[in-house]
Order: sequence, then C-alpha cells, then structure tokens
Amino acid sequence: ANAALFHSQKMEAIGQLTGGIAHDFNNLLSVISSALEVLPLKTQEPADLKIVDSMRRAVDRGATLTQQLLSFARQQPLKPEKHSVNTILSGFEAVLRRAANSSISLEFDLATRISTASIDAARFETAVLNLVVNARDAMPCGGSLVIATRDVTLADKEVGGLPAGPYVLVSVADTGSGMAPEVAARAFEPFFTTKEIGKGTGLGLSQVYGFIAQSGGSATVASTQGKGTTVNLYLPALAESAEASADQHAGADKALV
Ligand code: ADP
Repeated sequence: ANAALFHSQKMEAIGQLTGGIAHDFNNLLSVISSALEVLPLKTQEPADLKIVDSMRRAVDRGATLTQQLLSFARQQPLKPEKHSVNTILSGFEAVLRRAANSSISLEFDLATRISTASIDAARFETAVLNLVVNARDAMPCGGSLVIATRDVTLADKEVGGLPAGPYVLVSVADTGSGMAPEVAARAFEPFFTTKEIGKGTGLGLSQVYGFIAQSGGSATVASTQGKGTTVNLYLPALAESAEASADQHAGADKALV
C-alpha cells in the first residue's frame, strides 16, 4: 500500500510538471501548424512542398505526443462500475487485434466463470491496449500473445500490499524479447523507457500501474530475457457472480454502480 501511495504522489508531481510543459508546447505547435497551412499558398515548388509535408508530419507527431502527456497529467477521476472483465475484453477484441500486428498470434483464454469487479471500463481498455502495444513492440519478428482471465484467491500480501481475498486476474503474456532484471525492476516507473525518442514515452506501464492501484488492485511483471514477459493485473472481485451481471445486462436498464 505504501508503494502505491508513493507511486501516486510521484505521479501527481510529475503530472503537474508535464501538464504545464505539454500545454505550452501544444500552443507552440499550433503556431507552427497554422504557418504550415499558409506556406503552400506562397510556393508551388515541389521541393518546398515536400519540406512542408514532412514538417506537417513532424508537427502531427508532436501533437500526438503532447496529447498523451496531457491525458497523463489530467488523471481524470475513475468512473468505476460493476463489470465482467471478460465482457469488456470481448467487446474490445477487434481493437486489440488491430493493435497486435499480423505476425503475432493473439489468443484469448477467458475463464468460463469470472467474478465481476468494480472497474472503469474505458480506462481498463486503455490499460490492456497499452500492454498489447508493449507486447507487439517486444515481438518485432512475431510471436504469441495470450490474454487470460482467472478468478484467484490471494493470501495476505502475496501480491504487493494487497489484503487476502478473491481477485480477478487479467494477464497479458508475450513470447517477446523479455526484460533484463534491471529493466523489469523499473518498468512501472513513469518516464522509464528503453525505446528511442519519439517511439516510447515511458508512461504506458506507469499509467497501467496507477490505474490498477487506484482501482484497489495491483500489477506485477514477470519477465525472462529472451523468453518473454507476463504482466498481471489483480482487481478485487465483487461478491456477486458474473452470471448475475449478465442477467442485469439482459434487463432493461443497466444502472450498475
Ligand atoms: P514505453 O512503452 O513508452 O517505453 P512503458 O512504461 O509501457 O513505456 O514501458 C517501459 C519499458 O518497459 C519499455 O521501454 C520496455 O523496455 C519495457 N517493457 C514494457 N513492456 C514490455 C514487454 N512486453 N516486453 C519487453 N519489455 C517491455
């Protein structure tokens, strides 16, 4: 629990700093962007237009990056509702398949019975997408990616500072490059990245960790260099069964809180 508190305080400080910079940087980009709109009206020279085009692409990339930084800094409050992670994952399957590339075999190993959890579905989708993108980056020559869900019972402090009890486990396992121990140890740190500038922000796993901790759970990473990586997300299970929630879905309104 202390680690989670420390993490959230650190994230908040970094978030404020980042938000300020991203905001100002975004304004500068929009100045460049509108100048780039005008330039093609002043020159028809193909060589010039090519330069304008590459500048435009760079500005777009910069805008995407600042957008990511801003959404990191904002840390919107969660909107948790009672969900089956299986239902969320099934509904999100097409997006996840598109995110993994075609040389990766993506398999869903969803438990036939799964407890519900109180979770912000949109943020959960973003978290899983982050993990899938990391897995894809770790498997440039292809490999296998398995997204699994299970009901598990944890002993006290078996995972992070979590109390004993029933949890929903969502794991994302790849057969990619894996991480050296010193990388795995820092993987959840904000801005820690081994990727080149422009490719990685180092915010993916730290956001996943922050979100899961905020949801009352915890995240762990197990990785072997040259073999692959598994990221485990533990969410506190609600007492009711998933079947009950499926019934409610079938009913008129789903006011699940
Ligand atoms: P980013 O992906 O932007 O670098 P992350 O916080 O998502 O930021 O990841 C931090 C670092 O952890 C990555 O740069 C990479 O070195 C390592 N990492 C994360 N996921 C994996 C994975 N599935 N396989 C191998 N290394 C990974």
